[in-house]
Order: sequence, then structure tokens, then C-alpha cells
Amino acid sequence: MGTKLNILSLSEWFDTQGKPLIISGPCSAESEEQLLETGRALAQISEVKLFRAGIWKPRTRPDIFEGVGEIGLQWLKQLKKETGLKTCVEVANPQHVEACLKNDVDVLWIGARTTANPFSVQELADSLKGVDIPVMIKNPLHPDLKLWIGAFERLNQVGINKMAAIHRGFYTYEKTPFRNLPMWEIPIELKRLVPNLAVITDPSHICGKRELLQSISQKAMDLAMDGLMLESHINPEVALTDASQQLEPKNLRILLDNLVHRQEYGTEDFENLLEKLRFEIDHIDEELLTILARRVAKIEEIGHYKKENNITVLQMDRLRQMMISRLKMGKKLNLDNKFVLKLLQLVHKDSIQIQTQIMLKSKDQKNERV
Ligand code: PEP
Ligand code: MN
Repeated sequence: MGTKLNILSLSEWFDTQGKPLIISGPCSAESEEQLLETGRALAQISEVKLFRAGIWKPRTRPDIFEGVGEIGLQWLKQLKKETGLKTCVEVANPQHVEACLKNDVDVLWIGARTTANPFSVQELADSLKGVDIPVMIKNPLHPDLKLWIGAFERLNQVGINKMAAIHRGFYTYEKTPFRNLPMWEIPIELKRLVPNLAVITDPSHICGKRELLQSISQKAMDLAMDGLMLESHINPEVALTDASQQLEPKNLRILLDNLVHRQEYGTEDFENLLEKLRFEIDHIDEELLTILARRVAKIEEIGHYKKENNITVLQMDRLRQMMISRLKMGKKLNLDNKFVLKLLQLVHKDSIQIQTQIMLKSKDQKNERV
């Protein structure tokens, strides 16, 4: 999938001081006092560079707190004046954009429910034509990478090039420890396809509960993500939205202190050793594939022999014995049992396909002869 995106890297539009961008603030602005107190406490944490607050809340069901609306933007302005913290707000329609621009919000973000709807994203894009403001785009609720990239393309087409992605996990109907499944392969693929694009992880909406925040934040750092968006509240117990995932500022301080920052690239010695090990891996993979090709050739030979002797493709007893012996071998070699089983199943599935093809060909050839 090729993209024609023209995006500035994060450091070109936000001074991150070479560090991951830490965004924090309440899920929702609830009152002037709650917002200012949270913001003042966060301003004491030097890593926090951008303050977030939901002003209009996209709720799953009606008749629950839907945000304070425009008045909250005045409180944000006040916070910015007092602390110097830059601010970001979720926008879901052109009226939200207009209100944010009028009130000097620094960065906009598009929420997961909005990204999922191309009509809404296009309306937002149209309202941003000719405006120079950074926009962060959360992944759509469901794991659709093309739809996520499509949102970047729509904004890019109207001239927005200061953009970042926010990875907030994906909805699943299954019961898991997470509120939203991280599915890390999707943001990693997004980074691969759009090289300049910064991806910021939102552990709060992935985890849904405080206990998991540290490990998911660490994982994001280990995967070289470009920042974290962590919800915080001066008194999470009484928060009107997402109470179980918001952190008290003092606990955010602890979480950030406990993060281990590993480098994506290391010193020259380290790079040389890494280069050597990667070279070795390249050769091992070549051997692995050569061996697989030899196995395929043997499978074909057996397939022809089975065809000539009218034997079924699959013999259950043989399969059972083979699995048992290979799992034993794997165990001796200290390989993970589940991994070996999955690998054998995959290899066997492929063998069955090859031999079925051979059988089908034989039938056609017979038909031709008749
Ligand atoms: C939020 O950031 O508070 C929010 C509503 O998130 P999402 O769009 O990821 O659900
Ligand atoms: Mn929230």
C-alpha cells in the first residue's frame, strides 16, 4: 500500500527536547477547579509537555456527562497563561475546530469514533483548509489500518502536515485484561508505511485500569514509540469519565520515573556487534528457508508416490506420530512447545495443500486422457 503523505516529523513542529512526548491531563474537563488543579500539578512534572482535556465527550450512550463544552476552553486558556503548558483538545466537528482556534488551543486531536467515519474526517479536513495547526489522529475503534491512513491523507490533502498518530488500542468483543487490544503490529506497520509519522501510545485507553499502565507504557517505549498520552485527574475516584484509568499526578510522576528508556540505536561498538549478529541471523534464515524448500521437494515426491498407489493425502496415525516425535525433539532443543506445535501445524497444512494439488492434477490428467 503506497501513501503519498507529506508529514513533518514530530521534532519539526514540537520541541520534544529529543525525548518521548508526554501528554497528560484529565479525560474530561469537569470544572475550573479540577482542570486548573490537575494542570498545576502536572506543570511540576517537567516531562509533561502537552496538556490534554476532553471538552466535548463522545459517549457510547446518551444522558451521561457529555463534557462541559466551550467554557472549558477558557479554563484551558487560563491554565496556559499560568503554567506555559501547551494544550490539546479532541475535535469531532467543524464547530469544535472553530471554537478551539478562537481560544488558542495548540494542538487538535481526532478521537477513535470520529476517525472511524470518513464523512466526519472529511468535514474536519474541510474546516481546516488553510489553517496551520498540528493534528493528532487516534486509531479507529476497529483494526483497519487503511482507514487510519485515509484520515491522514484527507487532512494532508488540505495542507495539514504537522501530524502524529495516537495508538489507543482496538475494540474487541472478547474478554481480555485490556479495555482495548493493543495489537502492536498495527502501529508498527503504520510507522513502516509512513516513515516520518510519530506514533504516540495512549496506555490509558488501552488498559482501562491503572494497574496495567506501567507495563504498557514500558512496552511502548521498548517498541520505540514516540510518546505517551496518559490521562490524569487531581482526584480520579470522583472523575466523571474513565475514573478507573486516570492517574493522580503524583502517581504519574512515579510511572515516568520507573520507565526505562532504551535506545533504538546504540554506540559504535554496540552497532558493530548488532550488525554482526544481524548478519548471522540473515544466514540462519537463508539456511532455514533452504531446508524448507528441500522439505517441499520431498513432500512433492511423496505426493506423486501416493497418487500412483492410490493412497489418501492424509494418514492420521502418521501425523500423530510425527507431531509427538517433533515436539519431543523441540523440547530437547529448548524450543517453546506451543511455538513448535504452531510451526508444525503450519508446515503440515502447507504439505497437505501441495499434495492435494498433485492429486487434483492427476485427476485432470486422467480426464484429459479419457
Ligand atoms: C479520550 O481521549 O478521552 C477519548 C475519548 O479517547 P478515544 O477517542 O480513544 O476513545
Ligand atoms: Mn478518556
